[in-house]
Amino acid sequence: MGVANRWSLAWSIAQSFVREGARVILTYQGDRQKETVEELGAELGAALVAPCDVTQDEELQALARAISARFGELDALVHSIAFANREDLSRPFLETSRSGYLIAQEVSAYSLVAAARAFAPLMKNGGSVITLSYLGAVRVVPNYNVMGVAKAALEACVRYLAAELGAAKIRVNAISAGPVKTASARGIQGFSSMLDHVASRAPFQRNAEPGEIADAAVFLASDLGRGVTGNILFVDAGYQLMGM
Ligand code: NAD
Repeated sequence: MGVANRWSLAWSIAQSFVREGARVILTYQGDRQKETVEELGAELGAALVAPCDVTQDEELQALARAISARFGELDALVHSIAFANREDLSRPFLETSRSGYLIAQEVSAYSLVAAARAFAPLMKNGGSVITLSYLGAVRVVPNYNVMGVAKAALEACVRYLAAELGAAKIRVNAISAGPVKTASARGIQGFSSMLDHVASRAPFQRNAEPGEIADAAVFLASDLGRGVTGNILFVDAGYQLMGM
């Protein structure tokens, strides 16, 4: 969930999944994305391309029914979705509006709970739920603001879901990805300077690459990750460990 275009992290993840032999389903948000994502799905040989706006419970339910009817079960879910109003990613955090706060939480954090509820019943032999987070959940990153608070909630959702779904052999983890130039990232004021900052200080002396994030998702989805749940896995060129 979360392929909008070729720059989307979900697109890199889908490519890595296919490379390793997975059959993938792509979902898109609304008619505006339909054509692009259908084209990308065709290029990838996706088994299904379907609409799913995560703020609409009916769309989540309809997708779960479609997957159940066509495939019977699901092994992994990649939730690569976030949204905040652009003005909330540039003005002071103190100025965050009630509605801006709520929309960021709904789309970026609650949607993981809603999606897990819809799709966990399809993970009949256990499964893996993976979401995408960012360092701004646990540290203050200039202009990340309301999205940092939403990512903090998202990471807490990962832990609560992991605790509850463990009995069904469903693992729930997040990848905390380093900054990558995508459509969403461009909405954060000063994003280019974030990339420069990370490249100048990270142990790898560069930024994380989309393929590295995607391959970590394959690990978490596959049996190689069978012992891992409730974790936040940093794939960020090592930036998060630096104190100074
Ligand atoms: P992106 O813009 O390509 O992907 C965001 C996706 O969220 C889009 O496909 C969009 O359609 C989808 N979306 C938004 N609202 C939705 C809704 N109501 N229903 C369904 N889908 C909806 O950008 P991206 O950078 O690939 O973001 C993917 C995830 O990775 C996000 O959770 C983002 O916070 C996270 N992340 C990104 C970076 C980065 O630097 N790019 C770093 C760490 C984490």
